[in-house]
Amino acid sequence: MTKETPLDLLRAKGYKITPQRRAVLQAFASCPPFPTAQQLCEEVRKQQPDVSLDTIYRNLSLLTELDIVHEIFRSSGNVYELADATHHHHHLVCTECGHTECIDVCPMTDAYEQEAAKKGFAITGHIFEFYGLCQKCQQKLHKK
Ligand SMILES: [Zn+2]
Ligand SMILES: [Zn+2]
Ligand SMILES: [Zn+2]
Repeated sequence: MTKETPLDLLRAKGYKITPQRRAVLQAFASCPPFPTAQQLCEEVRKQQPDVSLDTIYRNLSLLTELDIVHEIFRSSGNVYELADATHHHHHLVCTECGHTECIDVCPMTDAYEQEAAKKGFAITGHIFEFYGLCQKCQQKLHKK
């Protein structure tokens, strides 16, 4: 079985593949890992020069809502990656330089679901990032 592309996912969820949505998803391939909305916008503008950053944000927020794109919260500006439904994971974010890396652990446990259930709440998703210092930034701080 071939892997579903983000475009397949979008279609499967009942959304039209507009030229903008297609361009945003394709922009991930030409951007460095974890692009900002601004970087994605610059990439999309190569094909659609009139596209506004607002439009990019609107498309990203829809794609994030649909779990096709994963938004990673950073104080210096959020970044994005294409989500992989078969590979649930979280991120390490450096608070100094913004370096972002995937980490293959999930801190979610049944305990949270049980606590939520006591309040009659059904958890359907979670966001969890680890904030700290990357190796380079730790070394820099030691030298000071
Ligand atoms: Zn760093
Ligand atoms: Zn990741
Ligand atoms: Zn998780």
